[in-house]
Amino acid sequence: MTQVRSDEIGPASKVPSGVSPRQPLAELVVLANRLPVRYSSSGDGGEWLPSPGGLASALTAVLVKNNGLWVGWPGSSDHGAPPPEYDGIQLKAVDISEEEYAEYYLGFSNATLWPLYHDAIRYPEFHRSWWQSYQAVNERFAKAAAESVAPGGTVWIQDYQLQLVPRLLRRLRPDVRIGFFLHIPFPSAELFMQLPWRRQILEGLLGADLIGFQVHSDATNFARITRRLTSADGPSTHLSFEGRSVRLGAYPISVDCAQISEMVANPAIRARATAIRLELGNPTTVLLGVDRLDYTKGIGQRIRAVSELYADGFLVPGEHVMVQIAVPSRESDAHYEDERRTLEQLVSGANGDQGHVGSPVIHYIHQNLAFEELVALYLAADVMLVTPFRDGMNLVAKEYVMSRADMTGRLVLSEFAGAAAELRGAFMVNPHDLDGLKEAICSAVKASSKEAKTRMARMRRHTLRRTVYDWADSFLTALSDGER
Ligand code: UDP
Repeated sequence: MTQVRSDEIGPASKVPSGVSPRQPLAELVVLANRLPVRYSSSGDGGEWLPSPGGLASALTAVLVKNNGLWVGWPGSSDHGAPPPEYDGIQLKAVDISEEEYAEYYLGFSNATLWPLYHDAIRYPEFHRSWWQSYQAVNERFAKAAAESVAPGGTVWIQDYQLQLVPRLLRRLRPDVRIGFFLHIPFPSAELFMQLPWRRQILEGLLGADLIGFQVHSDATNFARITRRLTSADGPSTHLSFEGRSVRLGAYPISVDCAQISEMVANPAIRARATAIRLELGNPTTVLLGVDRLDYTKGIGQRIRAVSELYADGFLVPGEHVMVQIAVPSRESDAHYEDERRTLEQLVSGANGDQGHVGSPVIHYIHQNLAFEELVALYLAADVMLVTPFRDGMNLVAKEYVMSRADMTGRLVLSEFAGAAAELRGAFMVNPHDLDGLKEAICSAVKASSKEAKTRMARMRRHTLRRTVYDWADSFLTALSDGER
């Protein structure tokens, strides 16, 4: 990393000893596992591009406004360091070795915490070496934040990969305000108790001034188990721990509503939506699923339900067609590999039994699509199927709702997605109940346009009230308003 001039360093004399700043100190620092840039290789070299997605855009916008800095891992180190400034924000890269990538990221984050926090749909693995690596990487992030934040500034830590950072950072920089937001669910006590390092994780989080969750029940789960396993005390919104106050609350994340509204008004995207329906053989009803290929998303169960509805004769090949986008994800994990094979078998079974030459009943795309193509698909779909077994929020559901400016379209939504607490106009379903799932799909397909319109209008009103920008603002306002 290049050494900056001393006049860029800021009031270093006020920074606690042991901390050696190298970049200008920032009033606001965001910490996330990944930086908001990714390296894209092309024929004649490569370049750093912004990461897609509403979250990166919203946090970048907040950082630009506050002259802020983002700390994160840049991905593979093969392409050298990312630029120190990008899109008006400073970037600070935290390096992760190959071994740490395997143990901290693929291991503890994605094979211990991810399944445990998603209702243990797959058995969480507990390995001491993974835990050690998780601690080492969290310490590195805490140190990077401590070196970057101005005296009395604010640090906002994102997600389950960095749960130890709040406490580690507080020890290094007791002068800063610390916020933490968990993007995934917080599990029930019965599940969380399995974690051999449960107390350390809770105490790690309690280093924050404010801990945000997607839904109230996550905050309540956290408070309940924290009172049981640590010395924290007090009501579920306001714990006291080691003489400090730790506030908890629900801050449901959302999407960039204005961006989606602009996209759905774009003639090129509308034309693409029409072309998609034509390519699908002009069916009466298009059903759509869009997910990362993850065992939490319930894709297989959804395909089973749709296949049975074809077999029952409720869905008719040619008239009804399903499109399932499954974005490749965590492919080195055996659970994900198994899930992919299962989905491929289910899709080919359905197409073999029900499809015809040139017209499969399920179009399965195992690819990452550009957001423009996704919005065209949302526009082309009559029924959106969002049926995860467990999901922190599920932005696809909100993106679909925002894409239906003409109030058409029906959403089938799992009760176990965070979005269910808000999108009350959806056809709600327990995805574990295959018959219930079939019934919800039937209800959505059969609903009158009047009913569909009422339901969609309700969901759009709610979603429009809270964009991803409001999410970031409300969290940061609450963080700065609270007593210290
Ligand atoms: N997405 C995308 N291209 C795709 C499929 C999905 O850009 O081909 C985006 C989608 O627009 C959404 C995000 O990926 O913003 C998925 O977020 P969600 O909360 O639904 O699930 P997650 O993957 O975070 O578990």
